[in-house]
Order: sequence, then structure tokens, then C-alpha cells
Amino acid sequence: MIFEYTKDNERLVRRLNDITTSGRISHAYLLEGDSWLDKRKFADTFAKGIMCAKGLGENCGACSMCDKIDHGNCEDMIYVEPEKSGNVINEKVEAMQEQIKTKPFGARHVVIIENADTMTKQAQNRLLKTLEEPPGDSVLILLSENMENLEQTIRSRCVKFRINHFGSENYDFMMDTAKELVDMGISRATFFAMYQKVSGFARDKEKVKALLDSMEVVYRDMLVGGAGKVTSIKTEDIVNNIHLVEIASEDIRIGVSPATAIKNLIIKIGG
Ligand SMILES: [Zn+2]
Repeated sequence: MIFEYTKDNERLVRRLNDITTSGRISHAYLLEGDSWLDKRKFADTFAKGIMCAKGLGENCGACSMCDKIDHGNCEDMIYVEPEKSGNVINEKVEAMQEQIKTKPFGARHVVIIENADTMTKQAQNRLLKTLEEPPGDSVLILLSENMENLEQTIRSRCVKFRINHFGSENYDFMMDTAKELVDMGISRATFFAMYQKVSGFARDKEKVKALLDSMEVVYRDMLVGGAGKVTSIKTEDIVNNIHLVEIASEDIRIGVSPATAIKNLIIKIGG
């Protein structure tokens, strides 16, 4: 199988290859990875390995099954997504359960639950029933940022994998930009100077989210002295700034444009 993020994930990719080619496919997988990883794409590749018409583990990319998955219109794939509120709700899980009971066109249904760790308690309880008695050869793939947010009863029924940071270049760039912004904020740089650092990707939601995550890391490092330097910023200001970063993340989650969210943040933490 050709995975998008093979680099940094060689072992995981090898495992998933073994799983699909051997046909020893479990009913449920839990893939964990940072918010800015395209986990759905990763899961889609895995699904193609399971469902490819040319055979298990093929992921040919050319058969009708692979083609449909690539275009997001495969009848046997069921995607469960969070609401605008940010949670995967009970009703969505219920709808999936109805769908999964029907006869698949191919060999099986594959369910991908995005942001599974945002499932409400009710949704998790409902999902548990499917995990306990999965219909037919169905496969459930739960994607999450932090699997600890899921009930133990759910986690214990899934085969768990962690997707590593891919493209470490990207990661380094975000950390560097975050450090620069934080430093500029402390030294009261102008809005314009600060915004220039992010204007190139301010409309890219995933990148802005990654930047915010990185900024939070930088601030938290300061709190524990991990940054290894004396700063002129007061602890209460750091705490406040972490809160502001969280507000920006939350704004994006509820639909505020990433550019607006990052601008608002810069205004508050900058000069
Ligand atoms: Zn195929």
C-alpha cells in the first residue's frame, strides 16, 4: 500500500500492510495523531488496502473501489463526522449503525469516525454496542487526537496505533514560527510585523491550528522553564496568553475563519 505519510511511520505502514495482505483484519482500529495530520487520508489508504477489488492489501488506486474511495463516494464507506459544535453526537452514531446493518456492495463496510475522541458520552455508549457485536466483516476506524478522551471500554476493543508527525520539516517550521511570534509578542512587536510571519498560510485552517498548538507548547515550556531562558514576561501573562491561544483554537473550531482567529490573537498578545 502506498501511504501518504510513510516517512516517519515506516513501522506503522508495515504493520498495516501486514494486516491487509494477511487478511487478519480486526473489527476496530483506533488511530491517534495530532490535529493537523490528515488522518482521514491515512485511514482512506488503509481502507483501500482492505477493500481494493484486486485483493487484500492491493490498494491499486485504479479499480472502481479504490477510485470511489479516492473520490469520497464509495457506498461501502461510512464517514461519521463531528457537528459544528465540535462533538460527534449520538444521532450520527445511530445513523451509522443503521447503515452498517445493510448489505454492503462489496465484501464489507468500513466506517471512519473522525475526531472520535469528541464523541459525547451517549455516542460512545452507543458505539460500544457496535464494537461489541460488529455486523458482518465490517471494520471501524476511529480517528482521534487524544485517545485518552475515549472511554476505556472503547479503547480496549480497538487495535491502537499512533501516527507520528509526518513531514518533520512542516513541524519544525511551525515551531519556529510559534517561537518567533511568542518572542515578538513579549517584545511588543507591531501587529503588522507579527502578521507578516503568518500571512502566507493564515487561510489554511490546518496550518493555523498547528501553529496554535505549537504556540501553546512554547508558552507551556516557559511556564515550566523548559525553554531554558529568562523571559521578561510574568507567569500570569503566560497563563493568560495560553488562554488566548485556546480561545483562538476554539474560534476556529466553531467556524471563525483561521485568518480572523490568528489576527485577533496577534492583536491581544502583541504590542
Ligand atoms: Zn483497487
